[in-house]
Amino acid sequence: MPKISRALALAALALPLLGAAATTPIVDYRIRARLDTAQKAIDGQETLTWRNDSPDTIRELRFHLYLNAFQNEKSTFMRESGGQLRGARIPKEGWGYVEVRKMQVAGGADLTPAIRFIHPDDDNADDQTVIAVALPQPVAPGGSITLNIDFLSKLPKVFARTGYHNDFYFAGQWFPKIGVYEKAGDRYAKQGAWNCHQFHANSEFFADYGNWDVTVTVPSTYVVGATGVEQSRTEDAQRRESTYRFVQENVHEFAWTASPKFVRVERQFDPDREVSAVELSDVGKLVGRSGGELRLKPVRMILLIQPEHRSQIDRHFCAVANGLKWFGLWYGAYPYATITVVDPPYGAEGAGGMEYPTLITAGTGLRPGEHETDPEEVVIHEFGHQYWYGMVGTNEFEESWLDEGFNTYSTGKVIDQVYSPLDVPIHWQSFPVEELLGLPTYTDDVMNRMAYLFYRKVDPVVRNAWDYYDTTSYGINSYMRPGVLLRTMENYLGPPVMARIMRAWFERYCFHHPTSRDFEKLVNEVSGQDMTWFFDQFVFGTDQLDYRVDSVESEKEPVRRGLFLQKGQRVAVTDEEVGRIEKDRAKKKEEPPYHIVVKLRREGEAVFPVDMVMTLVNGETIRQHWDGRDRWVKYEFNKTSPPKRVEIDPEHKVLLDANFENNSWVSDSAPLPFAKWFSNLMFWSQMVLP
Ligand SMILES: [Zn+2]
Repeated sequence: MPKISRALALAALALPLLGAAATTPIVDYRIRARLDTAQKAIDGQETLTWRNDSPDTIRELRFHLYLNAFQNEKSTFMRESGGQLRGARIPKEGWGYVEVRKMQVAGGADLTPAIRFIHPDDDNADDQTVIAVALPQPVAPGGSITLNIDFLSKLPKVFARTGYHNDFYFAGQWFPKIGVYEKAGDRYAKQGAWNCHQFHANSEFFADYGNWDVTVTVPSTYVVGATGVEQSRTEDAQRRESTYRFVQENVHEFAWTASPKFVRVERQFDPDREVSAVELSDVGKLVGRSGGELRLKPVRMILLIQPEHRSQIDRHFCAVANGLKWFGLWYGAYPYATITVVDPPYGAEGAGGMEYPTLITAGTGLRPGEHETDPEEVVIHEFGHQYWYGMVGTNEFEESWLDEGFNTYSTGKVIDQVYSPLDVPIHWQSFPVEELLGLPTYTDDVMNRMAYLFYRKVDPVVRNAWDYYDTTSYGINSYMRPGVLLRTMENYLGPPVMARIMRAWFERYCFHHPTSRDFEKLVNEVSGQDMTWFFDQFVFGTDQLDYRVDSVESEKEPVRRGLFLQKGQRVAVTDEEVGRIEKDRAKKKEEPPYHIVVKLRREGEAVFPVDMVMTLVNGETIRQHWDGRDRWVKYEFNKTSPPKRVEIDPEHKVLLDANFENNSWVSDSAPLPFAKWFSNLMFWSQMVLP
């Protein structure tokens, strides 16, 4: 089917709402790449057609040259990271770069002399990760331009996702890639402008959707994996080279890998076998759709695994299949024909745990225990990025929580669904956290919460990746804290409403570039509630949330003296009468009424409605809802039993509450296991976190 892509056809079948894909894409890349294993370099020829989707006349193009982040210690990436990323150091003599050797308008002007380096984010004149190219002939609104670009990509030794390690090659962010021209009204743009950030230590990527048609030539002993569907493989016996051709539509990036050591295994994801009728109906009820609307598509799963990890083949496939199944059922069917999982070799961990459209990299140990979370967690997480980054194309430079945070939340849900927390205990820095806490469930929530508690005051969730206080703040605000706030939102709105919000988010913004504000609008719309307060406080603000049981007092109500009107007569209660009533009560072993006064306080600036539950010694429970707005509230009760415990939010729905320890009051005579639970949590959160 020429012109009508397979992915597009699948997408149209799977989700009628993916209409946007039907328009001509903004970018069309045709790239020929030859791997030079002696030079550790890629020789490339790129033909790029870019469509001007704005009402503006475009006189200048901008491109990312990401690999130049690794050319020396003066790049913005290296200055910001100190040459370190995710615990790895750039290897000595492992520099990488990309050189644009020639850029020419197809059949027209040579643009090479017009190329200049710019640094739109900082004043670092030494950074060469973005170029601007002035055009002799502007691109008219709706028009397009085709460029022929010759380039050389010298790969770094594996560092920050990309590069080589011995005979393993991973090419990510490896070619000259055009930025995103945002017209007025797109995302936050007030007027048309290029969104083409420099490569920063704490940032990932942003690009337009389009078509890729890439041929890769490697030594014939090499096994290749790439974004998209393999169309052909040809051998050149004389040169001992193989050429692979991959094609993919509706993606915004293209990555590939090659190594002679990969063991290549293929399996089919067959929805009829993987999804039961009960699961289909349960999810259907949750998201408010018929089983037919949730139908998934078959997908070819390809695994490129290291020979020493062979025994983990099943575990990898099982994890990907669970990703395809649960993300597919909850949010919408995976529309592409393939998903490739790459297992980088020992020593190339820097290339692991990363996402590209239809291709992810994982990473595993030599012999992970049956009960360890690797490789499952990393495979499911990176798979999840097919949705949050891949298909819902948020700007990772500017709003990283929309990909990492959403993915933390979604991955946690798959883990909860498929692997019970007891099967997958969390060992963190060798502390068996789950055992120590005696946690029955929600391990992800607990881990995310611990991180959130540690770093909740410094930055709001949303800001440019390079503007956070430090790398830790970027990490916690991109991953764990959004995990906590989305889980709190789910607890507040209820799982079915949240499930519908997440599904609507995927369906509405698949192959689009939405923002945090778009998510806010969608939450308000789908929930039918104004949740602006939630976003203002917890997404865009740094207000702290903390509710406290301030005091609980209870007094036996004494027999009161005086004249009391009874049936029109004034009856006197004298000292004598009081003595008689008390004696009578004691004889009948009757409790006097208790007067109970409970005071709750709002310690933080943030406001969140909470429930208070009081349990009496006789077992009676009283639930009281507080809108949480005032600084404090007082409740008074007359009961025949004294209070045993008072708790704010006893179900721990409000995971954003910064201090659970002060959420409860317990009468001296009734120590509670849950109080111990939380003091353990607090203890370990202080012990374990640096
Ligand atoms: Zn991620």
